[in-house]
Amino acid sequence: MRITDIREQTLAMSSTMRNASIGFGGMTASALTLVSDVVRNGKPVVGLAYDSVGRYGHGGLLRERFIPRLLAADADEYRDGSGTNFDPFKVWAIVMRDEKPGGHGERPGAVGLIDAAVWDLVAKLEDKPLWYVLAERFGGKLNDVRVSVYATGGHYREADDLAHLREEVRRNAALGYKKIKIKIGGVPLAQDMRRIEAAIDVLGSGAALAVDCNGALSKAAALDLLTALSTYGLAWVEEPVDPLDFELHKELAQCCALPLATGENIFSAADTLNLIRYAGLRPDRDILQMDVSLSYGIVEYLRMLSIIESHGWSRRQCVPHAGHLLSFNVAAGLGLGGHETSPTSNLPLMQPLEDGYVRPGNAPGVGFEQAKNFYAIFGGLLS
Ligand SMILES: [Mg+2]
Repeated sequence: MRITDIREQTLAMSSTMRNASIGFGGMTASALTLVSDVVRNGKPVVGLAYDSVGRYGHGGLLRERFIPRLLAADADEYRDGSGTNFDPFKVWAIVMRDEKPGGHGERPGAVGLIDAAVWDLVAKLEDKPLWYVLAERFGGKLNDVRVSVYATGGHYREADDLAHLREEVRRNAALGYKKIKIKIGGVPLAQDMRRIEAAIDVLGSGAALAVDCNGALSKAAALDLLTALSTYGLAWVEEPVDPLDFELHKELAQCCALPLATGENIFSAADTLNLIRYAGLRPDRDILQMDVSLSYGIVEYLRMLSIIESHGWSRRQCVPHAGHLLSFNVAAGLGLGGHETSPTSNLPLMQPLEDGYVRPGNAPGVGFEQAKNFYAIFGGLLS
C-alpha cells in the first residue's frame, strides 16, 4: 500500500468583494489529490483537499518541497501499524523533514493541503466519514452530533453596499442561520455603524450579529469602534487589530466586555501558545479561530487543541475560520464550538440547517463527492 501520485492545481477565485484589508479580485486557491494504489470499484482510492480561501494558492511550495518529499519516502515510513491504512502523523513528519521550527509563513497552508488529503484518504479506506474517524480516535461524540453553524459574508460592495448587505443578511436569516457575520473596519466608523444597524434591523438582535474587521484598525480606531459598539450586545468582534499584536489585544480585552475573536492568521501550535499566553484573551467569552487547513492541517490542529485546553480553555471556544467541509468534519468530530460557512460562495454545506445547527453526514471521507457542483473543481486532477 503506497501513495502513487500527488497532483495540485491553482484555481482562480476572482470576485469583486472586499473586506477591510484585502480585495478578492486576484485571489487563488489550491486543490490537491493524493492517489493511492488501493483500488475499489475499479478505481484508485484518492484523497482530496481544497484550500481555505484568503491566503492564495500554495502550488509553488507544494511542487518544490512537500510533494517530492512525500513521493520520495518509502511506503513503510507512512503506513500505519496495521499496514492497512496510512498514518497522517507519519506523513506529516515526512513532509516536515528538514524544515526549521518557527517562521511559519506560507508553509502551513501547503502542508495543510497534504494533511487534509491524507485524512480524507484514511477515512475513505475505513469507509467512514472523516468526522466519525476523528471522533473515534480522539474521544469525540459518535451519536446525535450536531454543529452550530454561522453564516459569514457582508463584504463591501462597490455599488449599493447597504442595500446588498440588507438583502444578504435577510437571505441568510431566511436560510435558517441564527448567527451572521458581516465585514466592517474598511470605511469610516459612521458608515460602518450604518451597516451594523442595518444588519441588526434585519436580524432583530445584536446577539445574532458578529462583525469582522480583518485586522485593519489602528489602536485608536479599535478603541473608538469598541466604545461605539459597547451597548449593542454583539456576538463578537473579530480581528479588530493586527492579529500578531498580542499586547494590543490584551489592552482591548481589558477595556471591552464584548467577546473578541481572533486566530485565523495564527498558523501553528507555537503561535497558538503565544496567543494564549500573551494576548490577554478570556476563556469565558473569547473565540479562537485558527484555520485547520492553513495551520498545517489536522495533525497540528490537535496540538493546538492540546495547548488551548492545557491553559484552561474549553474547545467549545474554538470556531475555525474557513467555511469548508474539512473544518466542518473537524468541528463535528472533535466537538468544537461551531463552524463558519459562506452561503454566498460555492463551498457546500452538506446537510440542512436545523435551528442554526447542522448534523454531519455519512459519506466516506470529507464528503466532497457528495457536493456535485463543488466536486467538479477536482475534475482536471482526477482525469
Ligand atoms: Mg475573519
